[in-house]
This record gives sequence, structure tokens and C-alpha cells, in this order.
Amino acid sequence: MVGSFLNVLIARLPYEKSIIWPSSRCFSCFQRVRFTDNIPIIGYLRLRGQCRHCGAKFSARYLWIEVATGLAFLALFVLDVLVNWQVNSTVATPDMLSISTAITSFPRWAMFLYHAFLMSCLIAAAAIDAEHRIIPPMIPYVGLLVGVIGGTLMPWPWPNPAAAVNQLTADPVWMLPEYWGKIPVGVQLWPFYGPTFAFAPPGSYLLGFLNCLIGAFVGSMVVRIVKGLFELGFGREAMGLGDADLLMMAGAFLGWQIAVISLFVGSLTALVIKIAMMILVKPPAVPPSSPVGGEFTDTRELPFGPGLALGVVVTWLAWPWIGVGTQYLFFDWIMITMCVIVMCVGILAAGLLLRRSEPAATDVKV
Ligand SMILES: [Zn+2]
Repeated sequence: MVGSFLNVLIARLPYEKSIIWPSSRCFSCFQRVRFTDNIPIIGYLRLRGQCRHCGAKFSARYLWIEVATGLAFLALFVLDVLVNWQVNSTVATPDMLSISTAITSFPRWAMFLYHAFLMSCLIAAAAIDAEHRIIPPMIPYVGLLVGVIGGTLMPWPWPNPAAAVNQLTADPVWMLPEYWGKIPVGVQLWPFYGPTFAFAPPGSYLLGFLNCLIGAFVGSMVVRIVKGLFELGFGREAMGLGDADLLMMAGAFLGWQIAVISLFVGSLTALVIKIAMMILVKPPAVPPSSPVGGEFTDTRELPFGPGLALGVVVTWLAWPWIGVGTQYLFFDWIMITMCVIVMCVGILAAGLLLRRSEPAATDVKV
């Protein structure tokens, strides 16, 4: 049912139409879709993706979004409610509940709902970006609001008790190898810095709130900086600011460390998607209709949004592993500064190298 609602968002938000009125209609004959035909997945399959009245074909996207959302929610239910995977894989004494106790556990359901909301926003944003090359601001900004409220109410290390971080609060240096993998992962996976500051101790609402704000700010800024430097070297536009909004939302939900790593994982997944598309999808023989007619030659350029959304999910769910490997980068100011400098120089150089290997691009511009 959530997938069905996401389909409404995906079909209407890019055209700035209302998402609550009118009810679902055929885009061709404008007849209302019957209630029984609107049942997720089954409705689509029973009518073989066609309108009951005029036989117009509905996009296969309707089916895939519903299936994908259902599977994503099922996976989250197993990870968050049944297994409590992220929390249990990072504490010394895992909290293994029987199935009947697990499905009545309030913290686990709160975690599931929070994560399911983020997952829904990512699916809708990725699907719209894949089709229209834009991310409607409503999705990341509603996501930001929910992310900040939820994160403030569930501050790190919740649902772990605040005592779970005792060994980390007596002023150890979190970047040292003996503390790798010792940070308990909560709903907010990590605090924004460690050891936490005295004015925002573990478990305080202020820590949760700051985690969200810093996550959103860094998520947005890292895309803007990478975009600015890369385009300075490359000489033309390569990313949209919708990607900055998407990572801002992810940062509010998951924290700044995850947002930064997501950008790099997302670049890799975008590349994998691009290569898969080059192999699997043939370019259209006739250019798709466009208002300017025939201006477009390649509409299948890399849409970065879906890759970035997938990168966020991979980084977030694999954080107990990725976090152990990257912990030394995030809790020392000298290390953070060095990483920023290396990253900036590397991206500028990558842009320059790509510009030199693509001389045709400048010809088109002129
Ligand atoms: Zn119809």
C-alpha cells in the first residue's frame, strides 16, 4: 500500500499536481480506477497492466515500485524488528528476543517506522530522478522534517542504554585501533563526534538534534563542494542540486559520517547502473518526443539520483562493517582536515583528467 502511494507521488509530483485529489484515474480516458483494481500488485497483474475501460497500457513502473517497496519493507522488518541487526552486531551482549517478544518490542518498531519512512523517500526520489532527472524538493524537505523530529526523540545511542557507552566516555581517543568497532550503533548510528561533549551527553535530546542538523548540513555541503570542484575541473555541469537535497535528508536520518561515505558508495553504484544500462538497454531508435523536437540525442545519460539513493541504503545497512573500517577517519580533527584536503584535490584532478579525455564536449558547447 505504501508502494501504491509512492506511485501516486512519482506520477504527480514532477508535474506539481495535487497528491490527494483527484482519485486515481486512467491517464488516457480519465475514468476512475475501481477500488478493487487499485489493490497493490494484484490489481495490476489481474488486468495485465491495462485500463479496464480503454485498454491503455500502464507503465510497468507501477508494478515494480510496489514490488520493490514491499520487499524493502520486508527486509527492514527482518533487520530491525526480528533481528535488531545493527544494534545487536555492535554490542557485547546481543539482545536476542524470541519472535513473539520481538514483534511486540516498541523500540524495534519505532526504529522500523523511522527507517521505512527514509526508505520510502529514497524510492520515490530515485524513481522520479530516473525518469525526469529532477528530485522534487517536497520529498527531501518532508524527509528532513521527519528525520530531525525522529532523530531528536531517539538520540544516540538509543535504543541502547546510555550506560552502553561508559567505556567510551572516559576520554579515550576514538580513532585509536583499540576502540574500532566499539561504538554502539543506535537508531542514530553514531554521534557527530566522540567522545561526546559535556553539553550534549549520550541519550540527550540535544545530542539527537545536533546529530540531525550536522548530518543534514554536511550531507548537503559535501555534494555542493564535490559538484563545485568537479565542474571547475570538468568544465560543464555534472550533478544536480537535487542530489544535495537527497543527501541532506539522508544525513538528517543517519548522521554526517554515513552521508559522506554514501556519496562515494553512490558514485560507484551509479557507475554500475550506467554500465548495466549500456549492456542491457538499447538506445531508442527514434529520439523520445520533446518540446524542442530532435534536440536530444542521448537522454540516457547517467541519472545520479538512483545511484546515490542506492548508495545511501548500502552504506546505512552495512554500517557495522563500513563503520569499523572508517572509524579512524571521523574522530580526530587533524585526520578530518587531511581527508577534506585530499578529497578536494582528488576531485578537482578527476574533473581535469575527464575534461582532457573528452575533447568532443567542448566542441558541442561552442
Ligand atoms: Zn482508460
